[in-house]
Amino acid sequence: MLRRALWLGLRRGLLGRELGTRRGGSTLDWDGKVSNIKKKIQSILPGGAWKPLYDTSHLPPEQADVVIVGGGVLGLSVAYWLKRLEKRRGAIRVLVVERDHTYSQASTVLSVGGIRQQFSLPENIQLSLFSAEFLRNINEYLAVVDDPPLDLQFNPSGYLFLASEKGAATMENNVKVQRQEGAKVCLMSPEQLRKKFPWINTEGVALASYGLENEGWFDPWCLLQGLRRKVQSMGVLFCQGEVTRFVSSSTHMETISGEEVTLKRIHEVQVKMDCSQEYQPVECAIVVNAAGAWSGQIAELAGVGKGLPGTLQGTKLPVEPRKRYVYLWHCPQGPGLEAPLVADLSGVYFRREGLGNNYLGGCSPAEEEEPDPGNLEVDHDFFQEKVWPPLAWRVPAFETLKVQRAWAGYYDYNTFDQNGVVGPHPLIVNMYFATGFSGHGLQQAPAVGRAVAEMVLEGHFQTINLSPFLFTRFYLGEKALEHCIL
Ligand SMILES: Cc1cc2nc3c(=O)[nH]c(=O)nc-3n(C[C@H](O)[C@H](O)[C@H](O)COP(=O)(O)OP(=O)(O)OC[C@H]3O[C@@H](n4cnc5c(N)ncnc54)[C@H](O)[C@@H]3O)c2cc1C
Repeated sequence: MLRRALWLGLRRGLLGRELGTRRGGSTLDWDGKVSNIKKKIQSILPGGAWKPLYDTSHLPPEQADVVIVGGGVLGLSVAYWLKRLEKRRGAIRVLVVERDHTYSQASTVLSVGGIRQQFSLPENIQLSLFSAEFLRNINEYLAVVDDPPLDLQFNPSGYLFLASEKGAATMENNVKVQRQEGAKVCLMSPEQLRKKFPWINTEGVALASYGLENEGWFDPWCLLQGLRRKVQSMGVLFCQGEVTRFVSSSTHMETISGEEVTLKRIHEVQVKMDCSQEYQPVECAIVVNAAGAWSGQIAELAGVGKGLPGTLQGTKLPVEPRKRYVYLWHCPQGPGLEAPLVADLSGVYFRREGLGNNYLGGCSPAEEEEPDPGNLEVDHDFFQEKVWPPLAWRVPAFETLKVQRAWAGYYDYNTFDQNGVVGPHPLIVNMYFATGFSGHGLQQAPAVGRAVAEMVLEGHFQTINLSPFLFTRFYLGEKALEHCIL
């Protein structure tokens, strides 16, 4: 408004000059007036020198080819791969919309930074194998000229899964699949376990699987910032704001089975700017839903699931925020530097944190005990009642631990099968998903970003076939069942 008023003021001045000249007014008078107006404007604006009246750099562009909703690790990875795989440099205009540049509630920075190859689904193993390669060569993938190299603080300590008599056969099968896919994992008997990790109480343990390569943990902030820095250098645009609405057009059609469906195409994303009631419209060709724990809400905004239950139209994106606690404790007698990330058969996990006998860990609550996701407050009783007893049973040294701090974060929890949702929506034809990874989205982000970019640019998965992770499985009732969920 201010810019327009001032601009009109100057225009009026120009018109006035024309009139004034006709009336015989001098050019000097006019120049003086303009100079006075400029001085007045300068006196009310900060800066002194003549500058554009509005700084619009915080606003999104009016058009983008791809709008990515969510600037967490998954959104940034999609942005990275879109730019990396574009046929001609600068061909695709990518905008990342992130409502909170401090990432105060983002799963990425509240995670525990683990990467493992020990999954049961070949697709998950392949995703983590590629991500491990990406992390190992991060300074080739994410190098930015004149910027210092990234230090991921990678701890290559492996994961150790423990199984009871009942779970041993499944563990053996899982390891078979892992090896077939190229992961280096070994099975250990309780006796071998006692020899290698004498601090473990092996009672109730029938078998263990231990990752020998490509497993451990790293600093999630470093990966996030590295991706951010890189994509900015590649020309990706950023905007701090919240996506609040999509404008789309609809076409009705009938499927071969006679079902009436409405196809939608999003034309415009509306972004509510930070600390403002204003929204900015951004015209776009493609929308990527990478809003993590909130991606179910974004899908709903676009009309996903608005139809009769049981129909494709009525199928929701089953992703919601689920609160998970992480506790950090000190224990001078605890396991030493050789300790892997231990996933106990009780569901409790822990790993070292740094070099000073500090550890972190937790466990997922039972379905019927899910805490209210309305805030990120920590329940300290949960540690006392659900985490500490099995922990101290498995590692008796932990009987003397002292909790030092704790935090909570949201899993981007897929209530259908706890696995990722990747690729396009069948009815909202230009909305793509990169979400729902529950507890393993950080480690798979490098590979998932590539898969989504392939789908957007080529129309199919090229490197890893992620068809079992398509949205359509929710309608078809085909679960992508993963046995190794933490
Ligand atoms: C306690 C905990 C431990 C974990 N441990 C691991 C682990 O060891 N290994 C592993 O691989 N994974 C782990 N995870 C899971 C992993 O963190 C997530 O799967 C992953 O970070 C998801 O990334 P994301 O980019 O989708 O989500 P986020 O990092 O949450 O990013 C989504 C972004 O979208 C933004 N957003 C949402 N709505 C809007 C909107 N309307 N407009 C604009 N922006 C919006 C949010 O502000 C947010 O920044 C853990 C998670 C938790 C909570």
